Amino acid sequence: MLRQPILLLARSAQAERLVSSLPLSRSVVRRFVPGTQTDEAVRATRELAGDGLLVTLDHLGEDTLDRAQADATVAAYLELLEALGAAGLARSAEVSVKLSAIGQALPDGGPDLATANARRICEAARTVGTTVTLDMEDHTTVDLTLTTLRELRHDFPETGAVLQAYLHRTESDCRELAHEGSRVRLCKGAYDEPASVAFTEREEVDKSYVRCLKVLMAGSGYPMVATHDPRMIKIASALAVRAGRVPGSHEFQMLYGVRPDEQRRLAEAGEQVRVYLPYGEQWYGYLMRRLAERPQNLAFFARALVSRS
Ligand SMILES: Cc1cc2nc3c(=O)[nH]c(=O)nc-3n(C[C@H](O)[C@H](O)[C@H](O)COP(=O)(O)OP(=O)(O)OC[C@H]3O[C@@H](n4cnc5c(N)ncnc54)[C@H](O)[C@@H]3O)c2cc1C
Repeated sequence: MLRQPILLLARSAQAERLVSSLPLSRSVVRRFVPGTQTDEAVRATRELAGDGLLVTLDHLGEDTLDRAQADATVAAYLELLEALGAAGLARSAEVSVKLSAIGQALPDGGPDLATANARRICEAARTVGTTVTLDMEDHTTVDLTLTTLRELRHDFPETGAVLQAYLHRTESDCRELAHEGSRVRLCKGAYDEPASVAFTEREEVDKSYVRCLKVLMAGSGYPMVATHDPRMIKIASALAVRAGRVPGSHEFQMLYGVRPDEQRRLAEAGEQVRVYLPYGEQWYGYLMRRLAERPQNLAFFARALVSRS
């Protein structure tokens, strides 16, 4: 019930100014976003890698309508990749990129600019020995993002895709992307989408998630199962066994700060587990989506506001 209003607030610049100016306890942001600077992101990556976890790092920011901001985001990714390489972490960590953060929505030639910027990030990733995954954003950008993915995969076939099970189209997109060498992250979807394009009931989204999982696990690509949902994790494991998949031919992914015990439990059981680690100053939209997913987090948020630690 609270999901829609919180997601609306996530897109409001006024709400962002208000929330950002609140005397927020550092702990509320730090629970989901371990730092704002490259060195903090690298430190958090090293800790997770030490626990046998893989990482994908997201430099926070989205919906950029400013060329200088898009350039700054690309520069941040290049700096991060160099730092990961220098720290010997490139085998444990890749990067996740939102095309809207690197220019996709700019009025003149935005999609081409975003593709060119993503190419620069892919080149830097390959230089240090890692990969890039293109995050998926709201439904109006899906075709553009999949077009960019196809273009990048010409030269960088290792580039990962993200598909969102709440969209009606996704089972068919899974069929197209379940081929040899294709890394596909399946998530439920985090945006407020209309019923014309998306399943809106939780149960329908879960059923779609399972249908998509079946396609990806039976295919010859590399499924990346991004969920905290114990039922989906159990079903994914069973489908992997049924498809004769061995550990290493797929992975589980969860967000930083969400179900950390389960992340370690799965890794200790021999699964590949990757933690999505966001960092940077622009944490507002990301934090609001996490609150929308789990209204229980609102209580945590409220307590942190009161404690002002
Ligand atoms: C690695 C990763 C990458 C993602 N990338 C994208 C992307 O590119 N685009 C996009 O739209 N979305 C992305 N998402 C977000 C995703 O779409 C969902 O919004 C988010 O993961 C919540 O859905 P869920 O599958 O975890 O389950 P939900 O339906 O939110 O929750 C199901 C169950 O999981 C358990 N659970 C969930 N959260 C918690 C918690 N905090 N603590 C304890 N138990 C919990 C509970 O048992 C809950 O009932 C990503 C998610 C992950 C994990």
